[in-house]
Amino acid sequence: MRRRIKRDFVQRRLCRKTRTHVVVQREDCPDALADGLKWTTICEEHGGVVSHMTQKAALEWAPHPDEWCPFCQEREGECD
Ligand SMILES: [Zn+2]
Repeated sequence: MRRRIKRDFVQRRLCRKTRTHVVVQREDCPDALADGLKWTTICEEHGGVVSHMTQKAALEWAPHPDEWCPFCQEREGECD
């Protein structure tokens, strides 16, 4: 499922390793919010998502999309 990137995100950064942009924003998925996951980190190019309870955790995961975005994981080690 591809997530919509909000305008009021907390951070948007380019990951040098994967060459994708990663956005940290407030979670808006009702299922995740019900589990107490209030923050989400999104790989902008792929729509890969990981949710967190704290903003700090979401920001800590942002530099490493190759650890949680399934598409970045597939691309790792690929030559282009
Ligand atoms: Zn990705």
